[in-house]
Amino acid sequence: MAKLTKQNREKLITDLLAAYPDAKCALDYDSNFHLLVAVVLSAQTTDVAVNKISPALFKAAPTPADMCNLGEAKLSEYIRTIGLYKNKAKNVIALSKELVERFNSTVPDNFDDLVSLPGVGRKTANVVLAELFGQQTIAVDTHVFRLANRTGLAAADNVLDTELQLQKAIPYDKWTKMHHAIIWHGRLVCNARKPMCEQCAINDTCRKNGLK
Ligand code: SF4
Repeated sequence: MAKLTKQNREKLITDLLAAYPDAKCALDYDSNFHLLVAVVLSAQTTDVAVNKISPALFKAAPTPADMCNLGEAKLSEYIRTIGLYKNKAKNVIALSKELVERFNSTVPDNFDDLVSLPGVGRKTANVVLAELFGQQTIAVDTHVFRLANRTGLAAADNVLDTELQLQKAIPYDKWTKMHHAIIWHGRLVCNARKPMCEQCAINDTCRKNGLK
């Protein structure tokens, strides 16, 4: 599938940012450590589901050392309503140990150290770098992957190529804002099964517009 022309791409970016001026991270957190944990827990589940379980968990485990002391079995009880909770419990305990042992219980501020942590991939690292450290990143989750390739901002069959193509397509100072705008658009309008093209703010430039 072809990508958008330069002119359409620029208009799509302008229109999407105008449609979601307040788009931001939807995960609740009260510390760097808790944001990292929340992002790890949010894989293949909704932010709403994570926000439901996180207050009790964060209270029980304010720091990485507390999380280690809580242990995998008790942590599993706190997060059992979200997808893949057993695997996530294992990863959160393992990454908490690494934070204590290698990073003085702080969340690292660079990509390589973040992805060296258990359960932390490119998407999680990019979200953390943007949210906690103000870096420009484009984290490719399920919404971003779908929308980027539907609209023609990218034409890729995998997450990494989608991220690299989006980095070229979107001006650097708009990477993080576009990441949030795309996610909100994916949640509210351009759903996976039934995109609402007639109500869409970018339906004049989107390649896949169902009305065309
Ligand atoms: S026009 Fe339709 S397919 Fe394109 S972004 Fe909008 S809702 Fe999605």
